[in-house]
Amino acid sequence: MLPRQMTLTSRSVRPSRRYFIETATCCVPSWVGYANIAQRHMPKESFTLGVTVGAFAIVIVMRSAYLIEPRKIEIRDVPDPKLESGEVLVRIERALTCGTDLKAYRRGHPLIPMPGPFGHQYAGEVAAVGQEVKGFEIGMPVWGVQSGPCGQCRQCQKQRYSLCPELQTDMAFGAFAEYLRLPARVVRQNLLGRPPDIPAQRAAFLEPVSCVVHALERIDWQGVDRVLVLGLGAMGLLFCQLLPHYTHAAIVAGGRNPQRLAIARGYGLEQVLDVEEISLKDQLEGDRGVDCVIECTGQIDGWHAALGTVDAGGQVLFFGGLPQGTVLEIDTFQLHYQETRVLGSFHFGPPDVRKAARLLENSEVRVDDLISGEMGLDDLESALKQMEAGQGIKYAIDPWM
Ligand SMILES: [Zn+2]
Ligand SMILES: [Zn+2]
Repeated sequence: MLPRQMTLTSRSVRPSRRYFIETATCCVPSWVGYANIAQRHMPKESFTLGVTVGAFAIVIVMRSAYLIEPRKIEIRDVPDPKLESGEVLVRIERALTCGTDLKAYRRGHPLIPMPGPFGHQYAGEVAAVGQEVKGFEIGMPVWGVQSGPCGQCRQCQKQRYSLCPELQTDMAFGAFAEYLRLPARVVRQNLLGRPPDIPAQRAAFLEPVSCVVHALERIDWQGVDRVLVLGLGAMGLLFCQLLPHYTHAAIVAGGRNPQRLAIARGYGLEQVLDVEEISLKDQLEGDRGVDCVIECTGQIDGWHAALGTVDAGGQVLFFGGLPQGTVLEIDTFQLHYQETRVLGSFHFGPPDVRKAARLLENSEVRVDDLISGEMGLDDLESALKQMEAGQGIKYAIDPWM
């Protein structure tokens, strides 16, 4: 409920934005936060009015995409999140769709609350800071991810941050919105100041690149002469580009979608194989072996193909996750007598995020051709449907469009 509603007009915001004055019951930091936002987005006279009423706080209503249930997204007007100590409010400039969003949209996802705010790849600028926040100030360009490990548990002490049980307790979902509240742990661990020459759209790749870095860090590169990336979605294409930062091995990519195969062909890899007509095995047979396979299809057939392709003594890294309970059949001969090493990779930790930031600052990583279109919040659902139909790789959402 917003008692004593009163609409203020503003030249600096879209006419559809509504501003309310509410009896001040909120705590001081959020009042300060809202006053700061108001100052940035309202003309002086309106802001003065807000201040003159003294006992009132300004509440801004923002637009935010909610995943209600599989195949149902609603764009809601919700009050801007109130900040607790240590939290930061980010004004979103760009948010990106990803394969995890598509999974959640199609059938729900164990890590994404439903109904709930949606989206986790973002970049923007600081709109407000809570008490005790150090190193961030209003107007500062930032890039970050959605999680922050506790730093204290058994797993964190072993630097296995992606396995921290606290990781999933306070994730920042809701990047498909005008503003995103980042919990204190995320701010402390995984929010970074963004160099002003890195555009928001590129910066929003920090999360997927962190996932790729985490996986590449898990592979033992000794003796790897040839790597196969299986599955050319956005993640597979990022692997193809980032692999040369980790190994001198020859890179082979396998995929089906003509548009994505064409992008991979632009990377100067040793081979790009279309596995739509002829199986991977037939195309690689008679050739020298593959020491490492990075599985990015997220399909059980892809997992089997990866195991069927890797050379004795090689490694398979399963990057594309399958639903819990999925059982993989594997010949023990391959694990024991052929010494095949099987690895999983999930999420990332703060060191991966920092490495990902350095890689994105290096202009060699091309992300623009992974963006199939730019859209406003109202078109988010159609973006996901286009991804589902295999017509787009990733979409950039501009909540102010
Ligand atoms: Zn993601
Ligand atoms: Zn922990």
